[in-house]
Amino acid sequence: MTQTVSRPAGAPQAPLPLDVEAIRADFPILGRTVRNGRRLVYLDSGATSQKPRSVLDAERDFYENHNAAPHRGAHQLAEEATGLYEAARATIGAFIGAPENEIVFTRNTTDAINTVAYALSNAATAKEPAFRRYAVGQGDEIVVTEMEHHANLVPWQQLCERTGATLRWLGLTDDGRLDLANLATVVNDRTKLVAVTQQSNILGTINPLGDIVARAREVGALVLVDGAQSVPHQPVDVTALGADFLVFSGHKMLGPTGVGVLWGRYDVLDALPPFLTGGSMIEVVRMEGSTFMPPPQRFEAGVPMTAQVIGLGAAVEYLQRLGMDKVEAHEQALTGYALARLAEIPGVTVIGPPDTVARGGAVSFTVEGIHPHDVGQVLDDLGIAVRVGHHCAWPVVRRYGVPATTRATFYVHTGYDDIDALADGIRSAQQFFGVAAGGVS
Ligand code: PLP
Repeated sequence: MTQTVSRPAGAPQAPLPLDVEAIRADFPILGRTVRNGRRLVYLDSGATSQKPRSVLDAERDFYENHNAAPHRGAHQLAEEATGLYEAARATIGAFIGAPENEIVFTRNTTDAINTVAYALSNAATAKEPAFRRYAVGQGDEIVVTEMEHHANLVPWQQLCERTGATLRWLGLTDDGRLDLANLATVVNDRTKLVAVTQQSNILGTINPLGDIVARAREVGALVLVDGAQSVPHQPVDVTALGADFLVFSGHKMLGPTGVGVLWGRYDVLDALPPFLTGGSMIEVVRMEGSTFMPPPQRFEAGVPMTAQVIGLGAAVEYLQRLGMDKVEAHEQALTGYALARLAEIPGVTVIGPPDTVARGGAVSFTVEGIHPHDVGQVLDDLGIAVRVGHHCAWPVVRRYGVPATTRATFYVHTGYDDIDALADGIRSAQQFFGVAAGGVS
C-alpha cells in the first residue's frame, strides 16, 4: 500500500496546548512500529486508551512490593495494600470532586450501570424497608436516549423486562444532537430514572445535561450520567453535574483494564440494596441471613481489583499533572483540525456535529463508495488504528441510515501529524478502491 500525501491549504495550525512529543515519550507502546515498520498512529483511544509508564510502574510496584488482599488480614502487606487501595479511592474521588465514600469500584462502566440497574430491581423485593425507596416496578418509566452506548441501553431494557417498567427515550436531530423538544413529556411523573451519556462515543456530541437534570429534578427522578467518554477528556465535577450517579471506565482514561467507577450521591447509594453479594460487603452473617456494610463497601463484594485501582490512581495523577482544562483544549483543537481536514476530502461525510461547539473528539465518518471496514483495513495497512462498525451504539448508525462508520478518537498524545496521516490514509483508500471525488470512478 502506498500512501498519497496531501497537506492542508491555508495558515499553519496554532501550537497544540499539550506537548505531544514529550507525552508520547511517556507511552512505551507508542515507540513500537506496526505493519512492516510503520509508526503507530493510534486513533482508537475511545475504545481503550494507551497507558503511560507511570501507570504500568504503579501496577508493577504493587505486585512486586505490596501484593495482598486489601481489607483482610492483619499482616503488614495487607495493611499496605489497603492503604494504597484507599489512597487511590481518595485521589479518584477528588478528580471528580467527590468524597471517597461515594466512590464504588466496579470492573468498568458496563458493570457500574448494571450495579445500579440491578439495585433498582432488587429494591422491589428487599426485606429491609430502607432499601425499597427507589424500587422500580410496573407503571414506572426509565428514560434513555437514542444516542446511548449499548452499555447504557441494554441494562435498562433488561431492568424493564424484569420489573414491568417501560423504557422511553429522547431521539436525535439530523445534525447529531439530542432532540429535547419532547423532554417535558418523555420525562414525566412516572419517570424513575434518566440515564444519559455526557458525550457520545460515536457522534462526539456533548449533551446539555443541565436541562435534563433540571427536568428530572422537577419530577423527582434519579439521573445517571454515562461519563465513559467525558471524564477522560474534560473536567467533570459531580457537584456541578447535579446528577445522582456518574459512571466511567479506567481503561479509557490511561488506566488499566478491569476497573471502573460508580460515583453515587451518598444518600442515594445508602438507600440501595446490593447487586453482587458475598465477602467483604457484609456486616453480620448468620445462617438465617446477613446484613450489609454501608457504601461503598456494600457494592464491592469479593477481593477487589487492587492493582488496577492503584493503576487508575496513577492515571488520574498523570491527567492532573497535564491539567484537564488543557486536555480538553488540546482535543478541541484536534477535533477542529480533523473536521477541517475531512471536509477537504470529496466523498467523506462526518456523522455528528459538523463543528466543535459542544463536541468532543470522536469523529465518525463514511467514505462514499467504500465500506467502513475496508476503510479501516487500508488505514491499518498504513499503521493507523481506528475503530469501524456500529461502535456498540447500533441505534445511532440506524438513525443516520449508515451500516457502520469509521471512527477516529483522540487523546493527550495525539498530534496534527496523526490527523494528517488519517486524511492521507483516506485518500489512499479512495485511490485503492478506485473511488474519487465522491463517487466510483
Ligand atoms: N459508555 C460509553 C459512552 C462508551 O463509549 C463505552 C465504551 O466504549 C461504554 C459506555 C462501555 O464502557 P466499558 O466497555 O468500559 O464498560
